[in-house]
Amino acid sequence: MSSEFNGEDKPPAPPLRLTSNKNAVDLKPLPKEPDERKKSKSSKNSAKIKVNDRTIISSPQDFHHVIHVGFNAETGEFTGMPNEWARLLKHSEISKEQQLKNPQAVLDILGFYTASNKEGNKYMYSTGKESVSNSSSNSSMVTEKSTNHIEVDIEPIKPEPPNPPCTPEEVELPPPPVISRPEKTKSIYTKPLEEEKKPAPKANGSESVKKQTNKKKKMSDEEILQKLRGIVTIGDPNRKYNKLEKIGQGASGTVHIAIDTTTNREVAIKQMPLQQQPKKELIINEIVVMKENKNANIVNFVDSYLVTDETSNYELWVIMEYLNGGSLTDVVTETCMDEGQIAAVSREVLQALEFLHENKVIHRDIKSDNILLGMDGSVKLTDFGFCAQLSPEQNKRCTMVGTPYWMAPEVVTRKQYDTKVDIWSLGIMAIEMIDGEPPYLNENPLRALYLIATNGKPEIKERSKLSPVFQDFLDKCLAVNVSERWNASRLLSHPFLRLAKPLSSLIPLIHAAREASRKP
Ligand code: ATP
Ligand code: MG
Repeated sequence: MSSEFNGEDKPPAPPLRLTSNKNAVDLKPLPKEPDERKKSKSSKNSAKIKVNDRTIISSPQDFHHVIHVGFNAETGEFTGMPNEWARLLKHSEISKEQQLKNPQAVLDILGFYTASNKEGNKYMYSTGKESVSNSSSNSSMVTEKSTNHIEVDIEPIKPEPPNPPCTPEEVELPPPPVISRPEKTKSIYTKPLEEEKKPAPKANGSESVKKQTNKKKKMSDEEILQKLRGIVTIGDPNRKYNKLEKIGQGASGTVHIAIDTTTNREVAIKQMPLQQQPKKELIINEIVVMKENKNANIVNFVDSYLVTDETSNYELWVIMEYLNGGSLTDVVTETCMDEGQIAAVSREVLQALEFLHENKVIHRDIKSDNILLGMDGSVKLTDFGFCAQLSPEQNKRCTMVGTPYWMAPEVVTRKQYDTKVDIWSLGIMAIEMIDGEPPYLNENPLRALYLIATNGKPEIKERSKLSPVFQDFLDKCLAVNVSERWNASRLLSHPFLRLAKPLSSLIPLIHAAREASRKP
């Protein structure tokens, strides 16, 4: 593939954003937040970990901290709230009126926000509503003029080991520099408390018994290993692949470029130490979905291996095609895209979504960070660590998964949801392509979640500057009412996509983003 640009036929450079968003966001401290951390410029991923050769003393595990919080609908006061929550709430800019309107949303958000903020981890386990009731208790909570108890059960997450020092080589490497993104754009995962971890409720009706048997049992580490052994290729990938430089570090592992010695093809290898995965089932997901859902707009799975390191710890290696153009985040934060380019990217992502949704897979973490670009302008969806496979028995989901700013209102409010959540996130990603960032990014994250839950469709800045077809496209993606939100197939015939320019129109953006992010 000819990936380099020939200086002679270089088109005029695309407009850059006057202030790169990465700087704007990183330099702007959030007001009064408990744990805003500074990220090194070297990489968004350098804040994450993957050291395997150190002894890590982990914190106690498998305990649950159940918090009982009361809410008095008459006074609008919470009682028994942990100090940290009370402090966060005080500074969250969520007004008393808003708290009164939806106290359960406030608690859900506080529960998951404190857990994710403390650990700074992709995976965050917290439970809100499921432990008390379903959404019906919301209304009773507000209307009953008494103090109601709400349980929020937070499961701790293993702390990440310290970062390995960044070598000068890593900083100087030729692959696309990874642009720093604020911590708060990281993915999170919250899940309902497994029934088996709670004292068994008294089965006084067939309903609760049925509920219990329907709950999936958590897989043991041994079961997970067994399952992985049945999926991966037997053998040592080091014989087949010549691992070169590191190109990325995610929450679940490191990514290197490598050469397939038999074909000389470049591949990307994602190495995920099993020990460090707080939710190991998710990495099974990641390979199974990638392996079974091959499509031109999905980063292609090549192979997978289980490898043991010197200390006999297992690592899952996923070999996939290498995309050399960086992520869409690099482009949206550094350059200004025109509608033709936005339509082209939207169409490519919709093609991936149509394919996944037809196969009953919800990606659940659509955002610019998870769209990788090829130097030929190809656009591919990646990071299947959060996806959910729907089945006839389970055609809706309810865990709060994704990245807050991109989450659909029905996810934030913990209603049942389906594939349409990806369409909402695509709408938010379209806003990233216009503004360089999702709505509410400069808001206190807690308030942002509250705003998604209560405002629904975000206001689009300078909407009138967009063409009518683009405005309509955004409206169809960002319809709060799920039945009014279009699905991927229908959106593919939306007139906005007729504005799409050829994919090669993205090439100058990729170059410009790379140049801009190399500048000191
Ligand atoms: P996250 O914390 O973002 O969820 P993760 O552990 O799921 O991370 P990925 O997002 O899959 O990891 O990969 C981490 C980084 O490695 C990406 O941001 C990207 O820069 C790079 N990367 C991953 N896969 C590829 C690929 N196939 N080609 C090129 N670069 C890749
Ligand atoms: Mg990712």
